[in-house]
Amino acid sequence: MKVCKFGGSSLAGGEQIRRSGSIVLRDPDRRIMVVSAPGKRSKNDIKVTDLLISLANARISGYDGVTERSAVIGRFADICNELSLPDRVILEIATDIDRRLSAKYDNDMEMLDTLKAAGEDNCAKLVAAWFLAGGYEAAYVNPGEAGLFLSSDYGRARVLPESYANLQKLRERNGILVFPGFFGYTKSGKVATFSRGGSDITGAILAAAVGAHEYENWTDVDSVFAVNPNLVPNPQPLSEISFKEMRELAYAGFSVLHDEALEPAWQHNIPVHILNTNNPDSPGTRIIERRQTFNGVVTGVAGSKGFAMLHITKYLMNREIGFAAKLMQIFADLNLSIEHMPTGIDSITVVVRSDALDDDKLEIIMRRLFDELGVHEAYLERGMAIVMIVGAAMAQTVGVTARATSALSRAGINLELIIQGASEISVLFGVKEEFCDFAIKTLYREFFTYP
Ligand code: ASP
Repeated sequence: MKVCKFGGSSLAGGEQIRRSGSIVLRDPDRRIMVVSAPGKRSKNDIKVTDLLISLANARISGYDGVTERSAVIGRFADICNELSLPDRVILEIATDIDRRLSAKYDNDMEMLDTLKAAGEDNCAKLVAAWFLAGGYEAAYVNPGEAGLFLSSDYGRARVLPESYANLQKLRERNGILVFPGFFGYTKSGKVATFSRGGSDITGAILAAAVGAHEYENWTDVDSVFAVNPNLVPNPQPLSEISFKEMRELAYAGFSVLHDEALEPAWQHNIPVHILNTNNPDSPGTRIIERRQTFNGVVTGVAGSKGFAMLHITKYLMNREIGFAAKLMQIFADLNLSIEHMPTGIDSITVVVRSDALDDDKLEIIMRRLFDELGVHEAYLERGMAIVMIVGAAMAQTVGVTARATSALSRAGINLELIIQGASEISVLFGVKEEFCDFAIKTLYREFFTYP
């Protein structure tokens, strides 16, 4: 049994829905189809989810949202026409949107999530109607009735553990089940969504719950590449990548799959197969527990900008018991996530996301560092980037870091930071943001054939 998730670009219009539906029909193992909301039909188009967010925001700001409502219903109406679906389908969609608009909400976040979820929910109903119109056995599944329960953190909800046992029962149902991605229900029956791009998470949870032998994730690229294709022309496609490697690369910018979607698949050891709806015969990329093939010692090179480094020095820091604990507590008190924390003898650097650390928080940190921790020096550098090489085979190979640092030094790139050791399969380099892309290209050239 396979769970296959189709992203917004695979469902953007009638033709794309036909294409995605035919892919499902081609393999009888494809029993559960998870759908996103219709995405962009062209570069300047607007995703249905964004149209719904505009509609919700209009209502929250006290406007009637008539134009925004028409834009949403217009998108669905176009698709219904393109697929020659009966009028009943679009009427039901319009009624559903109006019901969401006129419902009573306890707060704005609840209303926003209920409207956002309408994209996936109505897309699933529409796709199920398309299968039925073609004479195939198919059914829309309501996530609430199926038991997909989420926490009430609107806009970034997390799955509640009992969902898995509930969803497992879907195995017993016949025909193609069309399940809307991106949202579930809180225990008190409210709609809550995952963070943006969260239909990937729904797919992974379902695949884990029903014990699928594969989770297919249909998107609009042929595969995961060893480097960002916007930086390097014709980069090496990856036929296989391990969960660990994918996790590390996703951290530094590989965005093919939502990072929260890896966890359920990884924990239940369900291979994830990234495939292209527009080129279904392309082999795609399989994300698996243990790789069978290795092309080279480095699997991928990635980089991400927007970091800040706080350099802290205190004489005899190495002998002061509890210094790191007190330091970390300051960040925890400010609800700041520490991304990395390399240490020296008398020094520690704390790496955080720059946008999370505003000037007010920085002032508090500085004051507490000097007043409570008695540090001798502390200064912040913004505009930093993290560039990393990742490869499962690196742990057993001598000299990978040496090759990487030599290549970067030949290119004249100054390394502000090197982090290796915590993860055996990656090495991270801190560089100034302006060198980020150049450093990625330099590392790619060192470990792969540069076109
Ligand atoms: N439609 C949602 C979004 O645009 C979720 C998804 O497509 O996965 O973020």
